[in-house]
Amino acid sequence: MTRLPGASPDDVRRVLDAVPTGLLVGGRWQPAESGATFDVRDPATGDVVAQVADAGPADGLRALDAAVEAGPAWAATAPRERADVLRRAFDLVIEHADDLALLMTVEMGKPLAESRGEVTYGAEFLRWFSEEAVRVAGRYGTNPEGTGRTLTLQRPVGPCLLVTPWNFPLAMATRKIAPALAAGCTVVVKPADLTPLTTLALAALLEQAGVPAGVVSVVTTSRAGDVCEPLIRDPRLRKLSFTGSTPVGSTLLAQASERVLRTSMELGGNAPFLVFDDADLDAAVDGAMQAKFRNVGQACTAANRFLVHDAVADEFVRRVVGRVREARVGSGLDEGTTIGPLIDERAVDKARDLVRDAVERGATVEVEGGEVDGPGTYWAPTVLSDVQPGSEILRTEVFGPVLAVSTFRDEAEAVRLANDTEYGLVSYAYTRDLARAQRLAETLETGMLGLDVGVVSNAGAPFGGVKASGLGREGGAEGIHEYLETVYLMTPDPFADASAPAARS
Ligand code: NAP
Repeated sequence: MTRLPGASPDDVRRVLDAVPTGLLVGGRWQPAESGATFDVRDPATGDVVAQVADAGPADGLRALDAAVEAGPAWAATAPRERADVLRRAFDLVIEHADDLALLMTVEMGKPLAESRGEVTYGAEFLRWFSEEAVRVAGRYGTNPEGTGRTLTLQRPVGPCLLVTPWNFPLAMATRKIAPALAAGCTVVVKPADLTPLTTLALAALLEQAGVPAGVVSVVTTSRAGDVCEPLIRDPRLRKLSFTGSTPVGSTLLAQASERVLRTSMELGGNAPFLVFDDADLDAAVDGAMQAKFRNVGQACTAANRFLVHDAVADEFVRRVVGRVREARVGSGLDEGTTIGPLIDERAVDKARDLVRDAVERGATVEVEGGEVDGPGTYWAPTVLSDVQPGSEILRTEVFGPVLAVSTFRDEAEAVRLANDTEYGLVSYAYTRDLARAQRLAETLETGMLGLDVGVVSNAGAPFGGVKASGLGREGGAEGIHEYLETVYLMTPDPFADASAPAARS
């Protein structure tokens, strides 16, 4: 089979052989204390491609020890020094973009071109926060009574636990590590057990970039709960940043509440994609393809519910069907593949159940798609129209290439349907009416709004949700503040002494 340059079996082997497979604790790569390992599989074939150290609770606590020990020295480095380290890390990630992309495709399945896109996106957090590291500032002001001065300063929160998901193995790690390091925090990173390799490769590049021992530790484990809970309950940990599903986020929030631990939560989504009757339909279809099928539909920002005005719904569906029929399902390493495998069997089961439920409740199957035989966990894209209220697919994150269309009659109904979910991460809207776009920005219950675009993620913008989609923001000017705390100083009025030489004139 034809492969893109850089995706030959020999290259895959070379890249896999170069990945460290131990735990990184206190600047030393090492096996788990128990000696245990777990398998990492390629979802395109089901083959085991690597075995990595399987940390237990004691390993996690040793990583926290290292973060605590390295904390004061790292916090005391000059902001410019931290910026330079992050900037070198950016350069190294870009230099190794092809290898990182290959690794991601092998352990996660997305098409190679998309993995390369994620490397660019993920690297950008290192560059963005290298620039933010030197811009942390405080305030000086007069209190309202005029009797004193108020000053604020920002200081690093301290050791952090960063828990990341499998769907964007590089970008979800850099989106946390870069602001934490820029702020002067030390971190323990716990990647998903399905995709630990990219994080391990990133950690090796961070070391090369000059990140000192203990500032970044990586703990891979097949027992996430057993390893994370003792850290969350340990008073030395000062921050938990989690990206993943809402149920796990909610469990971790409950654990964190005991010590009132600071948290950032980037959780699940159920994005509405609104197409109004005045929309540029070509643009809407382009946006729909990106918002639905990027990452094989496995993105928290994936459009989950296509809500289309009655007047344009048939035409929208006709054009979408034409585009979906062009999709090429296959290994992410094969040239021309647009839809790689889903991450695992559970993901295939979920797509099957949601499609079956929607059809039983009256949806029309426009493109059947469905399970693909053979090794690997593939689902060919499905398009459903006339999806009826009450269908499970309208409530549940599909996390797969199933595009479900429902209709609305007017703007009020569109907004009501869009907001009819516990989630509020991102919404998309296509309209040429500027006033309507502004109304949507003010009425949709969402952390982000893609207006006439199908992708919103950008290192320079605050990413995050409302409602059950999470707490806090990553990226943008806001991102670094998740890792800083504000200290306020009160001083007397320096002019209070009337005999002061520079008394107010
Ligand atoms: P997940 O099952 O919640 O897992 C996320 C991470 O949490 C993984 O590292 C996982 O480790 C770990 N974890 C699981 N149970 C844990 C526990 N009891 N204690 C501590 N850690 C635990 O989510 P996922 O399936 O990997 O990712 C998909 C979800 O992430 C979707 O809902 C998606 O919307 C969301 N997501 C959100 C954003 C955002 O920015 N809002 C971005 C990407 C993804 P193991 O995998 O090793 O079990």
